Amino acid sequence: MRDKIEAVEVKCPKCNRKQIVYIPKEPIPKCPDCGTQMVISELLDEGKSY
Ligand SMILES: [Zn+2]
Repeated sequence: MRDKIEAVEVKCPKCNRKQIVYIPKEPIPKCPDCGTQMVISELLDEGKSY
């Protein structure tokens, strides 16, 4: 059984700081600069495999 991990780009709605997180392994983070809950801005579902 494999975990399905997806890379998503999240961004801060306040200062537009961007970050890549892997869900559901990582929670959507808060912005390290201003503490605002970041939102998903783009799904990066490229189907990469190694
Ligand atoms: Zn911010």
